[in-house]
Amino acid sequence: MSKFKTVTLAALMAVSCFAPATHAATVIHAGRVIDGVSGESLKDRTIVVDQGRITAIEGGFRKPATGDTLIDLRKSTVMPGLMDMHVHLTSEHSRNSELERFKKDAPDVAIDSVMYAERTLLAGFTTVRDLGDSFRASIALRNAINAGKVAGPRVFAAGKSIATTGGHADPTNGWAEYLNGKDVGPLEGVVNGPEEAAQAVRQRYKEGSDLIKITATGGVLSIAKNGLNPQFTEEEIRAIVITARDYGFKVAAHAHGAEGMKRAVRAGVDTIEHGTFMDDETMTLMKERGTWYVPTITAGRWVYDRSKEDGYFPAVVRPKAALVGPQIQGTFTKAYKAGVKILFGTDTGVSAHGENAREFVLMVEAGMPAMAAIQSATSVTAKFLEIDDRLGSVAVGKIADLVAVPGDPLVDISVMQRVHFVMKDGVVYRQP
Ligand SMILES: [Zn+2]
Repeated sequence: MSKFKTVTLAALMAVSCFAPATHAATVIHAGRVIDGVSGESLKDRTIVVDQGRITAIEGGFRKPATGDTLIDLRKSTVMPGLMDMHVHLTSEHSRNSELERFKKDAPDVAIDSVMYAERTLLAGFTTVRDLGDSFRASIALRNAINAGKVAGPRVFAAGKSIATTGGHADPTNGWAEYLNGKDVGPLEGVVNGPEEAAQAVRQRYKEGSDLIKITATGGVLSIAKNGLNPQFTEEEIRAIVITARDYGFKVAAHAHGAEGMKRAVRAGVDTIEHGTFMDDETMTLMKERGTWYVPTITAGRWVYDRSKEDGYFPAVVRPKAALVGPQIQGTFTKAYKAGVKILFGTDTGVSAHGENAREFVLMVEAGMPAMAAIQSATSVTAKFLEIDDRLGSVAVGKIADLVAVPGDPLVDISVMQRVHFVMKDGVVYRQP
């Protein structure tokens, strides 16, 4: 990591000392460009970046003017900055996670998140949705990144996930009774009934969230028995969605089991996360309602692999991981073939930060063409986030969020895991 740290510090200094005053352009010679929109791979292009924006894209390799910086990516493929619609920047799962809930204070979590954000950016992910944190750390992190204090992706933060009592994301699951975990409510993101559901949304608004995350069914890693059951009534979800709209929030719904998924889709949520046991009826409903699917195959694979190790998970978690994990990739194949709209998302924070691009490999393995997988993490996500006027494609006038991989991802998708050039807002954070 020390090599990355040096690059990042230099980049931060560039932000604070030089960025506003500089007029020298950055000239990139790109062997290939995948612009995120057209579906074509363009050969031998010069991309000019000035004042954080893409100002020109020309055929061939233009000589840089005096004072310009040349970046040689003639053996690489340049793409828009990648976007992951499901991460948790404030944590990373490990063998010790159950105990760490009790050992880590807000400052510990906040400092961890700075490290994870940097890893995410250096892996080529310049925009993410953070779908659930603790101590509102993802919101502080987002603000620090936006202010140029630390290096990381643009963050759209849900803050605290909203759950029902004992549900996935009730922060006091598994606590001994003397710890008084039963007193949590909308303030901590635990609701019962439509009124509290609405109150929890307003609380997230007060705390500075950008969107709402709910846990519509049980989950794998919570200290609770059922990983699939519905955990909200449809009325509760509807109250959340209606209130969320008042504040301009989209609603993301974690869901493994089909019944909870259907309630969430009918109640009007924007995305289904994981979607593990999505049946044909749910897929039809999602297409009718325009609901997006965020597959997180990476997380499924990760929990399944760990479930085979003795003692890795608490006893209550292990069978859920073994059941849920292997299903997701097959569901992805079915949903993609059925025409459900797909957004790239990994649930990183379950798996290790910086390994987000593994999802591309798993998506292609499951039947999605490489170009479609790349678009699902660039122009498609940008449109979903309503930032496509400035991000998500390599085009003149767009913000210069650019990444590059060695070789050609359309030939070998695994090169997405070897991002070696990262530019965000025109600032270089990593180069070969
Ligand atoms: Zn998640």
